[in-house]
Amino acid sequence: MYFKDVIGQQKVKERLIGEAREERIPHALMFCGPQGSGKLPLAIAYARFICCEHPTEDDACGTCQSCKLFDKYIHPDVHFVFPVIKKKGDPVSNDYINEWRELIQRTPYFSINHWMEAMNAANQQPMIYVKESDEIVRKLSYKSMLGGYKVVIMWLPERMNIECSNKLLKVLEEPPVKTVFLMVSEDSSNILPTILSRTQRMNIPNLEEKDIAETLLKQGLTEDDANSIAHCAAGNYLNALETIHMSRDNKLFFNMFVKLMRLAYMRDIKELKGWSENIASEGREQQKNFLAYCQRMIRENFIYNFHEMEMVYLNPEEKQFSQKFAPFINERNIIGIMNELSEAEQHIERNVNPKMVFFDFVLKIIMLLKQQ
Ligand SMILES: [Zn+2]
Repeated sequence: MYFKDVIGQQKVKERLIGEAREERIPHALMFCGPQGSGKLPLAIAYARFICCEHPTEDDACGTCQSCKLFDKYIHPDVHFVFPVIKKKGDPVSNDYINEWRELIQRTPYFSINHWMEAMNAANQQPMIYVKESDEIVRKLSYKSMLGGYKVVIMWLPERMNIECSNKLLKVLEEPPVKTVFLMVSEDSSNILPTILSRTQRMNIPNLEEKDIAETLLKQGLTEDDANSIAHCAAGNYLNALETIHMSRDNKLFFNMFVKLMRLAYMRDIKELKGWSENIASEGREQQKNFLAYCQRMIRENFIYNFHEMEMVYLNPEEKQFSQKFAPFINERNIIGIMNELSEAEQHIERNVNPKMVFFDFVLKIIMLLKQQ
């Protein structure tokens, strides 16, 4: 992550770069702002810049030893601290450093939910425990390995427990030389005021619509899609990513639904068996999402027959398919089909073999489609 990779935030970048070039590097910076605005990417790009041995005017060089270590997030003078879940005893960030590196290398734009998923956390609340402050003190007591700054990047300091906050306060009061704390907060009201007063606050605004749209265009979206998704994202890049994800699933589900109905209509048992095996190989959540999609399609197609178009919620592609398909869903089979869908959902929930569930389901659909 370089400054050039950070979406938008031109003013913030200019200020950070300008101050660093004048060697006005505060010993503790608090990046505050809403989710999906790019606070963590900014903190990482800034850390890379101040550690770089030959920075250019506005970014790190990319070739020095420091930059190379940054590529893999294994720089010995840069320490990440983030909320973690308990296994046994008090955990520290290092216990999850592999998961963290993997996620951050994929993208530094993520939410606490993505991070919980990466840690395989169920319902536990990730926290920064007191043992972490001892770790920070220990790490900062070593000499800088590369001779430059020692940096601590702390993601979500609001999740520090009180003992940890108090211990960290002591470090912030008397920071070791050439040490920089970069904190990335989404809710600074939950941070001790004494900590806040010892950090320089950097407010990060929501992203601008045009900056999100430009990023989506580079990812290969059409101009129309990029603009409309950027608009709905309301300055939060994570929202935009979620929309793209959902529309991809939607497209996939639509194709599977169409294929299922065509094969069922033709009573192609052999192909239907392949179809069931295909969906059975997906994850359980995906299977449930597909069944929910089918329920929506069946309901919408039933309503389609009443020709009350303002009551129909289908996208253009789905609507086109429904012109011919809708008459197959009628008052004689809609309840039966809906029942089969919810039964399949329950069986998936209860871990019944999905191959059996879906093959049984397609056989019933063949029967039900006949009832016209
Ligand atoms: Zn460099």
